[in-house]
Amino acid sequence: MPPKVSIVVPFYNEEDNIQRMHAAIVAAIEPLRLPFEMVLVDDGSKDRTLVLAEQIAQQDPRVRVVQFRRNYGQTPAMAAGIQVATGEVIITMDGDLQNDPADIQQFLAKIDAGYDIVVGWRHNRQDKLVSRKIPSKIANWLIGKATGVPIKDNGCSLKAYRASLIKEIPLYSEMHRFIPAVASIAGPRIAEIKVRHHARQFGQSKYGLSRIYKVLLDLMVIKTVASFTARPLLWFTLLSLPFGFAGLAAVGYSLWRWMGSDQPLALPIAGSGVIFLMSSLILVLGGVLGEMIYALGDMREDQFARLTGRVSREPGRVEERR
Ligand code: UDP
Ligand code: MG
Repeated sequence: MPPKVSIVVPFYNEEDNIQRMHAAIVAAIEPLRLPFEMVLVDDGSKDRTLVLAEQIAQQDPRVRVVQFRRNYGQTPAMAAGIQVATGEVIITMDGDLQNDPADIQQFLAKIDAGYDIVVGWRHNRQDKLVSRKIPSKIANWLIGKATGVPIKDNGCSLKAYRASLIKEIPLYSEMHRFIPAVASIAGPRIAEIKVRHHARQFGQSKYGLSRIYKVLLDLMVIKTVASFTARPLLWFTLLSLPFGFAGLAAVGYSLWRWMGSDQPLALPIAGSGVIFLMSSLILVLGGVLGEMIYALGDMREDQFARLTGRVSREPGRVEERR
């Protein structure tokens, strides 16, 4: 029996696309003769998208609908669909027919060949040049440099994953663009394949230039997390060193001047020295916190108690070990 496939599609105000999308996915997958389900996520649409989604689900038992009460965004919608998906392989794609369900077959072939993540590359992208294609080129270059995972088209929603992998990855903001980079911490096999891309025919794009800012913030978070996970304390201490030295120098200098002559204490210098020293201390404390969260964050209370020498004998009670 081939593995079950879940197709996850987020929709926000796509009343003119959702039925066409369902039909196109069915037409692409049915001939492959494998078990599949479709998870249609309505991201708080204000048009008839949800009504149509429920209609589709009534007629087609392979379809499930996830409903958001308000608009949360494409990544959270995708994440919700991924969470409820029951397939061993999960495929995500846009709901506006810009991705082509006919490409699903080649994604499944790559998963079959042993890859854990398959990423689409819209090599012939049908979007605006200045507001879309150029920012995306720059973003892809930046993401590649920052994460060390060079992927030509991070923004392509059409991707396939082994469910066990994708379900473990936290997704928020615009993070679906960074899944390959984030996942690469676990060392998956990643394949990249060319996909078709069509201009949007019905409805409107939901994004403008503001997305660039969000993507940049996400990139910073990922870069920080990726380099810090090993030893936050190490990085924070390094960062605190210049502040510490500057602080010591300023305080030392003003004390030396004060004691060596009859001039009054140089308050601005001494004061900035103290501020530098405090900043340095706060950075070290930040590192300690990071280290604690990293090391103990997932630990349950009883595990922690055992580690620190206190033993829990009954649930909810912690006693000192003799
Ligand atoms: N989308 C969503 N929530 C949003 C914005 C978009 O679920 O807040 C969906 C949208 O319905 C579409 C996909 O995400 O299925 C991609 O959106 P869009 O086509 O607007 O992005 P673009 O192709 O212009 O980058
Ligand atoms: Mg689109």
